[in-house]
Amino acid sequence: MHGSPTMSVSPPFDWLQERAAERTAAGLRRALRPRQAGSSLLDLAGNDYLGLSRHPDVIEAGISALRTWGAGSTGSRLVTGSTELHQELETALAAHTGAEAALVFSSGYTANLGALTAIAGPGTLVVSDERNHASIVDACRLSRAEIVITAHADPEAVEKVLAARPAGMRAVVVTDSVFSADGDLAPLAELSEVALRSGAAMLVDEAHALGAIGVAGAGAVSAAGLAGAPHIVSTITLSKALGSQGGAVLGPAPVVAHLIDSARSFIFDTALAPASVGSALGALGVLQREPWRATRVREIASRIASALGAPAPASAVVSIVIGQPDRAFAAAAACERDGVLVGCFRPPSVPEDTSRLRVAARADLTDTQVQRAITVISAAIARC
Ligand code: PMP
Repeated sequence: MHGSPTMSVSPPFDWLQERAAERTAAGLRRALRPRQAGSSLLDLAGNDYLGLSRHPDVIEAGISALRTWGAGSTGSRLVTGSTELHQELETALAAHTGAEAALVFSSGYTANLGALTAIAGPGTLVVSDERNHASIVDACRLSRAEIVITAHADPEAVEKVLAARPAGMRAVVVTDSVFSADGDLAPLAELSEVALRSGAAMLVDEAHALGAIGVAGAGAVSAAGLAGAPHIVSTITLSKALGSQGGAVLGPAPVVAHLIDSARSFIFDTALAPASVGSALGALGVLQREPWRATRVREIASRIASALGAPAPASAVVSIVIGQPDRAFAAAAACERDGVLVGCFRPPSVPEDTSRLRVAARADLTDTQVQRAITVISAAIARC
């Protein structure tokens, strides 16, 4: 039944205009910018840290998977979608990071949702760093666990929260290992000690660490000497340093078996497309043959940061805090006009008054390109 609207009823989406006006006034409107094929812009805005998304071996591996398995995976991993390629990738990811087992998901986002909701639920305590990625925030909400947010990178605060929980209550400490906006590292060794003392598990999001931290980019968990630890579960994305698409959960075999039984974003989601699986495997192969890429990307990040007077980065990410969102936006636009694409992070992605340029180093940049990026970015900052 469709009744005619009365005078007092306004159209259901009128309120959106008001919200849009508020965001415009705050300098927080977002727009989709078209990306041109073959663009001559120097891309330091993406997360292709090792320059693998266009590597010929990675592309060939994707094409070969596409030819063998088709364009789509046709169904959930549990129904039709689990090819031997998915299993090969899981074996390779576990070996590369030192985990006992791995399970591929369709994205890093669904990997986080699946991992946390499967290992934490009503009656579990989840202790989450205040700067964790949005996918972890959403995973916390979906888990219906008791959530306590702690100050950034503060193991003592985590310890206090864990100590205050009722006896016998299960707990999970969840943190990014490299925080995407600042590029800083979580104090993983300290957090792990705290978790172990208190009988808590840890979930570590290695999205920005895989490929950029540790020997051959094995990740921050491995670099902290925690690879294969029985209380640690990690998540990764295949869409940053591996230049492909998709995600995975890494950890003890019983956890992976539990995820296959119970992670809703695994069970009810179509398996990752074969081309993405193939490309990720190809990228892992390049990384293993060319482990220098992981070292080179950090060196380039350090060079850019020191030339721009930004704090020394621990990862591939250089964060240049500008302050007001409109100034950060203007600086990013000036960089783009001069041929260099950088990220512009504004609230709610970062705290108020810390809008910034986010510059992602890439292992495949030449010294000339690095110098050009430095010149363009410093001129843009000086002008804004
Ligand atoms: N975790 C972190 C820290 C991320 O930055 C991202 C991607 N921005 C994700 C998870 C989600 O990964 P994906 O893009 O593969 O869904």
